[in-house]
Amino acid sequence: MSSPAVIPRALGAANGSVLATRFGYSSLERQRQRLPVFKYRDAILYLVENHATTIIVGETGSGKTTQIPQYLKEAGWAEGGRVIACTQPRRLAVQSVASRVAEEMGVKIGEEVGYTIRFEDQTNPGFSRNYSVIMVDEAHERSISTDMLLGLLKKIQRRRPELRLIISSATIEAKSMSNFFQNRCFVGAIGPKWGLVVAHRIELIYEKDGNETFDQLLILVKEVLEDGSLSIGSHGSKPFGQVEGVVKVRPFGISGGPESMTLGKKVLEHFAMDSVPNQLPAIVSVEGKGYTVDIYYVEEPVSDYLQTTVDTVLLINEKESPGDILVFLTGQDDIDAAVKLLTDATHDDKKRSSGLLILPLFSGLSRVDQDLVFAPTPRGKRKVVISTNIAETSLTLEGVVYVVDSGFSKQRFYNPVSDIESLVVAPISKASARQRAGRAGRVRPGKCFRFTIYLAKKLDFLVFSVGSAVLSSLISFIYCGIFSGRIQGTRLYTEDYFLKEMAADGIPEMQRSNLVSCVIQLKALGIDNILGFDWLASPPPEAMVRALEVLYSLSIVDDDVKLTSPIGYQIAEVPMDPMVSKMVLSACDLGCSEEMTTIAASLSVQSIWVSGRGAQKASDEVKLRFAAAEGDHITFLNVYKGFINSGKSSQWCYKNYVNYHAMKKVVDVKEQLCRLLRRFGLALKSCEQDTQAFHFSVHFVLSHVDGSACAALGLPCSCFILRKAIIAGFFANSCYMEVCLQATSTLFSFIIEHLFATSYFSNLIFSCRNTATMDCTRQLEVLKKYTFILPLYCSGSSLASQIKVNPKWVVYHSLVSTDKHYMRNVIAIDPSWLIEAAPHFYQTRSPNLALY
Ligand code: ADP
Ligand code: MG
Repeated sequence: MSSPAVIPRALGAANGSVLATRFGYSSLERQRQRLPVFKYRDAILYLVENHATTIIVGETGSGKTTQIPQYLKEAGWAEGGRVIACTQPRRLAVQSVASRVAEEMGVKIGEEVGYTIRFEDQTNPGFSRNYSVIMVDEAHERSISTDMLLGLLKKIQRRRPELRLIISSATIEAKSMSNFFQNRCFVGAIGPKWGLVVAHRIELIYEKDGNETFDQLLILVKEVLEDGSLSIGSHGSKPFGQVEGVVKVRPFGISGGPESMTLGKKVLEHFAMDSVPNQLPAIVSVEGKGYTVDIYYVEEPVSDYLQTTVDTVLLINEKESPGDILVFLTGQDDIDAAVKLLTDATHDDKKRSSGLLILPLFSGLSRVDQDLVFAPTPRGKRKVVISTNIAETSLTLEGVVYVVDSGFSKQRFYNPVSDIESLVVAPISKASARQRAGRAGRVRPGKCFRFTIYLAKKLDFLVFSVGSAVLSSLISFIYCGIFSGRIQGTRLYTEDYFLKEMAADGIPEMQRSNLVSCVIQLKALGIDNILGFDWLASPPPEAMVRALEVLYSLSIVDDDVKLTSPIGYQIAEVPMDPMVSKMVLSACDLGCSEEMTTIAASLSVQSIWVSGRGAQKASDEVKLRFAAAEGDHITFLNVYKGFINSGKSSQWCYKNYVNYHAMKKVVDVKEQLCRLLRRFGLALKSCEQDTQAFHFSVHFVLSHVDGSACAALGLPCSCFILRKAIIAGFFANSCYMEVCLQATSTLFSFIIEHLFATSYFSNLIFSCRNTATMDCTRQLEVLKKYTFILPLYCSGSSLASQIKVNPKWVVYHSLVSTDKHYMRNVIAIDPSWLIEAAPHFYQTRSPNLALY
C-alpha cells in the first residue's frame, strides 16, 4: 500500500536520536530498519491516528510485534502518562518479546518496557493503566482470552473513543475481523418524526413519537453508549413507523437533513466526542520477503513417529547444506523424548550427528534455556530446535532453513456433557501447516518435511464435523495412544491429504473449552448478559450453561446469576480455576490456608516431578518416600517441605526426581496467593500441629484412609481438615471406585500406586457409581461408563503387600483423556463429607447406601 499523503504532526521523525545517543547507531537499529514493517511505519502511524481500529497482517518475523509498539512510542502515544499495550496468547512469547523490545530500546525490563503474565508482574508500578493503544497480537490463534478481549475492547471503544486498537497476526482473516469491529453504535441523533444524523459514519436512528426534547435525546444517546446490547438493525429493513422504542444503528452511509445535522453536532459536543476517529477499520498488509520453501511428503508409512523425526533430522544434517532445523512436535513429553533420542544418537552415530546443537522449546522452559534457543548458532554448529506450535507464529527463530512438521498439535477439547476436558493431539489446519513451512524461508530458500499420523482418516472426520459437543466427546475416544508420544503406524503426510483432507482453519478455543473461568471473568468485569456478549464466534450454549451451573453450585453466583459477595468477587480475583480458588478460600475458614496455598500452587504447575530420566524404577522408589496415603495433594505438601528444608536446593531436586523449576514456580505462586489472601483480609493459618503430620507412616495410615481412624488414635488430623477444604471446591468431582480386576492382590498395588505416584495419570481401575449411590442434582451419566486402565509400568509396587484397605471414595482434580480416561491428582474421602459440603448437590438416597 502507498504511504498516505498527510503525515500527522504527532508522528514527526522517528525518535532515533535517543537510541543513537544510547547505543551509537547500533547494529540493532540497523536491524530494525531492515525489517519489512519499517517501510510501513508512517502508514501504520497515520492509520492508527485516524481509525479506531487498524488490522495489520504480515508474515511472521516481519517486525509487527517488536516494532509497532516502538513506533507508537516514538510517535508520542506513550506520553502524558499513557501506556501502549501489546497482548500475546502465550506466556513465553510475552517474556521473549518484552526482553527483545527492552533490548532494542536500551532499557531494562520493568522500566519503560514491562510485561505481566499470570503470577508475574514485571511492570513499572509508577505507570498508569491508561492505555492509549492496545495491540491484540496473534489474533488468528483465537484463544479464549483473545476472543474475550476482542469482545470487551469492542465494548470499551464505545465509551472511550480515544482508545485505538490494533489487531495483528500473520494469517488473520482481515475481512471478518474488520466486519466485527465496524458494526458499532456511536452517536447520532433524532429529528422530528424519525430523523437521523451521520456522525463519523455511524448513525443512530430512533423513533418513538419523534417529539423528544434535547435532554431526552441526551439520555437516549447515553444509554446507547453504555449499553451495546440495544438491538442493532439496519435502516430500511423494516418500516420505521412500525417499530416503536427501538434504537437502530447502522454503520455508515446515510446523511441527515440540516436540522438533524445541527442536532447531531450538539450531541457530539455534549459528550465531547466531536473528534471521534473513523469507525471503519483500516487494513494494512505488510509484504514480507519470505523465500520459497520446498515441501516434501514421504510416501511410505513409517513405524515410529518420534524415531522418524530423529532420522529426518539426522538425514538433513548429513545431506543438506548448513542451516538450522526447526521441528514441530506436540508437547513437552514428545519433545523430551525426541531430545533424548537425538542425544543418544549423538553418542552412537557421531558422523551423522556431528555439530548438532539440540534445544527444546516449549512454554514451561526456563529463561536460561530460552536464551539458548534465541542465541546465534555458534560457528560450525547446526541448531535443532524441537518445539511445540509456539514457534509457529509467536516467536521468530533466525537461521532456520529446514522445518520438520509432525502435522499435529496439542489442542484442548471439552465435552460439556461429561465435563471432560481433554488435551488431545489433533491435526493442525492448512493455515498452520503453511505457517510452519514458512518458518524455513526466512534467511534463504528452505525445505519443509511433513509428517502425519496414520490415524489421520478417523481424526479428520472429527475435525471437519464442527458440532463441538459431539466432536469433543468423540474425539477423546478416538485419539487412542497418540498422547503417549510413541505412536505406532505413522507416515509423512501426502500432498493429497494436505490438499483434500486437512481443515482450512482451526476451531476457535472458545468452541472447544470449559468456559467456567471465562464466565467468571466476564461477570467480574460487569458483563451480566453473558449470552448476549458480542462474541467473535459464539461459544456452545451447553458449555455456557454448564459453566453457570458449576459457578452456581460453588456459590460463586447467586440465583440471579450475579457474583456473590464476598466469595464470588474474591474467587474472580484469584487467577486460578474457580474450583481451586474455592478450595483455598474454604481452607481459610477451616484454618489450613498455609498448606492449601502450597497445594493450589502445586496444582498450578504441569508436574512437580521430572519425567523420563530413564531409571523409572529408581525414580518410583524415590517418589514413594514422599507419598501420603490420603492422596496426591498431601504428597505435594511432603515434597514442598522437603524442598524448603533443603534450602530450595537444585541438588536435592535432582536426587529426588523433583522438577526444580516447577518447585521454584510453586514457591512463587504460593507467595502470590498468600499476598492475595492477605489483601482479602483472610488469615493465613497452618493446621499442622506436628511437623510429621503429613508424613504419616505409610504402613500405618494405609489402613485408615477415611480419616476418622486418625482421630480415634489421637493422631494429628490435619489431613482431615485439608481434605474437607478440597471437597469444598471439588465435591462435584467425586467417584466411587470399584475394584474389578482378576487378581485382587495386584489390584491393591495399583490403587496405591495411583494415590502415591503423583506424576502418573491416575491409574485406577474403577467405575464411577456415584449416581447409583447418591442422587446428584446433576447427571453424571457419562462417567458411569468409564473404565480406567493401568499403564503397565505401574504394577509391582514394593508397598503392595502392606496394603490392607483401599480407598473407595475419592475426589479428583481433573480427568485426563489419553487412550482412556484417567483421574489426575486424587484424594481419598469419606462420602458423608460430600453431603456435608454440598447438600445442594448431593443427597442420600438410602442411609444404608451412603457409606460404603
Ligand atoms: P512478527 O511479530 O512480525 O512475527 P517480530 O517483531 O516478533 O516479528 O520479530 C521481528 C524480528 O526481530 C525477527 O525477525 C527477529 O530478527 C527479531 N527478534 C524478535 N525477537 C527476538 C529475540 N527474542 N531475539 C532475537 N531477535 C529477535
Ligand atoms: Mg509477532
